[in-house]
Amino acid sequence: MTTTSTTDEPMALAAARLRTAGMRVTAPRMAMLTAVHESPGHLDADALRERAQRITGHLSLQATYNVLRALTDAGLVRCTQIPGHPARYETERHDNHHHFVCRACGAIRDVECTVGAAPCMEPRLPDEYDTQEAAVTFWGLCPDCRAATPAS
Ligand SMILES: [Zn+2]
Ligand SMILES: [Zn+2]
Repeated sequence: MTTTSTTDEPMALAAARLRTAGMRVTAPRMAMLTAVHESPGHLDADALRERAQRITGHLSLQATYNVLRALTDAGLVRCTQIPGHPARYETERHDNHHHFVCRACGAIRDVECTVGAAPCMEPRLPDEYDTQEAAVTFWGLCPDCRAATPAS
């Protein structure tokens, strides 16, 4: 047999990504990485846990958070903290993109970075500060919610 089933392929890809990142390959990690990669992006831990469980069977909530933390620390997954929302996860593409959050329905969409670099990572701070992340979040109304809001 030389044919690979379509369900094995994403897992093999996930295993390769874990190895490249220098991580130990485990079933929960492969399943979670696949779940993040195959999701439309910006899912919270609960939603990802549900998807990963379809691949690998039961995953406790604690295991879910541990795996997501490890994948985030390894730079494979990007975690976005948005005030008032659970943390959202997506595949890390190192494109410095930002997020638009709808105040009404909580929908999140990517906003391309205008300059493509991260000048916001060079804040005017003394050298003693170790800046690790800069986040820009745009807030407003998505088109659906705008349409549903009567003009005042
Ligand atoms: Zn909305
Ligand atoms: Zn995003």
